[in-house]
Amino acid sequence: MNIADYIKTGINEWPNWFNRILWRCNIFGPFVYGGSYRKLLERIDDVDAEKRLIDMANYAISHVPYYRNRYGNLHIGTIDDFKKHIRFIDKDEVMSHWDEFVADDTDLNTCVTGTTGGSSGKPMKILMPRSRYVHSLAFWHKEMKWYGWNYDTRAVIRNHRLKPDRDYMVNPILKEFIFDAFRMNGEYALKVWSVMKRYGIRYIHAYPSAAYQFLKYCRQLDLDTSFIKLCILTSESVTPEQRYFIKQELNIDIYSSYGHSEKLIMAGSCPASDKYHVEPAYGYCELVDREGNVIDKPGVFGELAGTTFFNKCFPLLRYRTGDYTSYADSDCTIHGNDYRLLNDIDGHWDKTLIYRSDGGYTSLTALNLHSDIFEHIDGLQYLQERIGALTVLIIPNDKYRDEDSAFLIRHYKGALGEDADIELRFVDKLIIQSNGKFQQLISKIKV
Ligand SMILES: [Zn+2]
Repeated sequence: MNIADYIKTGINEWPNWFNRILWRCNIFGPFVYGGSYRKLLERIDDVDAEKRLIDMANYAISHVPYYRNRYGNLHIGTIDDFKKHIRFIDKDEVMSHWDEFVADDTDLNTCVTGTTGGSSGKPMKILMPRSRYVHSLAFWHKEMKWYGWNYDTRAVIRNHRLKPDRDYMVNPILKEFIFDAFRMNGEYALKVWSVMKRYGIRYIHAYPSAAYQFLKYCRQLDLDTSFIKLCILTSESVTPEQRYFIKQELNIDIYSSYGHSEKLIMAGSCPASDKYHVEPAYGYCELVDREGNVIDKPGVFGELAGTTFFNKCFPLLRYRTGDYTSYADSDCTIHGNDYRLLNDIDGHWDKTLIYRSDGGYTSLTALNLHSDIFEHIDGLQYLQERIGALTVLIIPNDKYRDEDSAFLIRHYKGALGEDADIELRFVDKLIIQSNGKFQQLISKIKV
């Protein structure tokens, strides 16, 4: 384990009393992330993205066997050349030619292996420069600063499982108080809240489902959440009921960011717009339809494809990520047209479809409910086990009435057809995947 990796994880194991002393001494802000981080952050908006793209494509053609074998004599001079000649690739293509993607001059000591593709399908390994954290953090921090974050401490509720004798861990360098999302119930939520309150922690960094669950308990226990300034929500898409509860009911702002483990595209929201602002200097982002045509118009659904600007040991060009979205048709009032804006991003297309008995399907977004029903529930999840049927898992709260059930049945039949078999199932907890992630729709349908 190198020092950067140790700081990220190993130091958390030290006793809390000791790490809290170090944490209080940490007044270094951006300086703990090192010189290359600060340099990158300073120049982040001056990058010439077109030049980066062209340089990376030419580098890959001369240094990476996969591209050399296919495009050996090609020289890319413009973005149009790139689009015309370089073909899209996907996970299967990379896995079946894995060795050929490693650049000739790669010093394996400067790389680490990352695994991608957690919840669906076979995982894929890719090589990445050791400095990958620095690169992603700089972009991520740049966007968090839009919300006023200035290296403030974060309460982290993600995929950590803590030893039973510890309620939380502290990372004094990264200024994180880390909690165990798998243990979340009323009693544990009170502990998390007390620690946040005692140490003045105003930022929550969580999976959306974990933040939602924690804040719902806070509300049930009538705890004051007005000191919480921002929820930093990553790794899952934010569902409409989560957004409504956190933003409208609790009045806590949300920063949601999209990233993926191959680290080709990064995009995040800003205080004026929930839409995802694509960071042009992070990597080259394209949207493609099923036939492989590039989409430029707003509102047309397609797959995100990315090209790296920084991973020279294992460069992926025009890599289809398996994530789906469309361009937004509105501008942001703060950023005008400085960024391309993306609508909500879904995981794999097939994972967001509900199959009807007439042979068609309805997308998850089409099931969207109106805000008033969200005030009567503390959680919602869909389960499709057979075609034409949908089970709706609901955590009702004390405002929930029989009329809500009647309304919901009508709503889902309206979206899925009168003959759809809709079951409302009242539960205490929703289903969380073994990696700690939440999926709004769990589909058992194989197509
Ligand atoms: Zn904006």
